[in-house]
Amino acid sequence: MGTKTSRSRGLDLVVRRARLAAKSGLWDIGVRGATITAIERRIPDDARQVIEAEGRLAAPTYVNGHVHLDKCNLGDVMRPNKTNSFQECLEITWEHKRTYTVEDIVERASRAIEEGILNGTTVFRVFADVDTIGGVRPLEGIIALREKWKGIVHIEAVNFPQEAIIRDPGTAKLMEQGMKLGADVVGGLPWHEHLDEDARTHVDMCFDLAKKYGKDIHMLVDDIDNPNSRSLEYLAVKTIREGFQGRVSASHCGALASYDEVHAHKVMALVKQAGISISSNPHISLVAQGRYDQEPIRRGITRVKQMWRMGVNIFSSQDDVNDPYYPFGRNDQQEVASFMCHGCHMTYPEEIQAVFGFVTENAAKALRLKNYGLAVGCRADFNVLAAPTIRHVLRLQQPPRYVIGSGKILAENELRRALNRRP
Ligand SMILES: [Zn+2]
Repeated sequence: MGTKTSRSRGLDLVVRRARLAAKSGLWDIGVRGATITAIERRIPDDARQVIEAEGRLAAPTYVNGHVHLDKCNLGDVMRPNKTNSFQECLEITWEHKRTYTVEDIVERASRAIEEGILNGTTVFRVFADVDTIGGVRPLEGIIALREKWKGIVHIEAVNFPQEAIIRDPGTAKLMEQGMKLGADVVGGLPWHEHLDEDARTHVDMCFDLAKKYGKDIHMLVDDIDNPNSRSLEYLAVKTIREGFQGRVSASHCGALASYDEVHAHKVMALVKQAGISISSNPHISLVAQGRYDQEPIRRGITRVKQMWRMGVNIFSSQDDVNDPYYPFGRNDQQEVASFMCHGCHMTYPEEIQAVFGFVTENAAKALRLKNYGLAVGCRADFNVLAAPTIRHVLRLQQPPRYVIGSGKILAENELRRALNRRP
């Protein structure tokens, strides 16, 4: 096996005959160690391992920039959620959060991570509740998860005040402890405070932590279809004043969709100026919002298409996997992208391509990942997908054929289908 040339190039993996989104024709991808070192028409090298893409699309692995894995898979053991109200979701979680153990969290979360890898994701920004009910235990669990999966996938732990900060006295101290434990990102939930003033103080406190520990910020903002929920504009102004442009992400921002056009445009311009990335997570918004509406029922999703057209960095995430908030979820970013296309009317060719970016490049930009992409010099984190084009990948919803992370084949999927009778 191999020729003199091949030994001199020392490739560990070659993917043959892949299609790429940005180039026409078929290409070979060469990997050495954890890096993509060649993309050529034909790499004359047998390499240590060879995969045949057979004309399928190769694309960077999916990035899931907002997922709660401390509470994932509670869906199998919790009491039924009868109202699906935010309050009942919180309360069901309390019943379990009080007695979480690190081992229990790592076990449930690892099942979701395995599912995510099989579905082509190698980057997970994981939110962990920090509050006076579970203390820092959920965060300890997610940090243990991060350490367990180190070298295989990239996991970030978000120090997240699920019960808000001012209305849950004691949380501020716990968040400080969370940063010392090794949280990667400062979380926030300003809209859940009782008063607008408290929401602003909440945002200020998160910035204080981020500055002190040199971390980025990712908040869940205005996750409600009440047009009076207005923390996004304050977050944007604060981001600009603190010089945090490009380092802040905001998830949901559903209230923005309920503002009148004049106010919405003011807020969106501030978001753009602040360089805030917006994570819109269609699964949960479609089922959690608009619950007081009769018909028509609002979609609960923020102004994705408008902000995308303005050049705001939009990304899209799974958010919930089989938990008190959401009865479904399989940690599948292809499914997330499909929901986004449907929920936001993004079905034209350039829109489908943009939505694919929401679960790949844009999410990587929000997380400020280094060397992400399918190009020479980038980390060898890419999927050989099940179909030749983005549209067909999203149409067919089949898992990637191969999932490659740090240059290793992390997962393979083979779909067996048999039609036993034809006319
Ligand atoms: Zn969430």
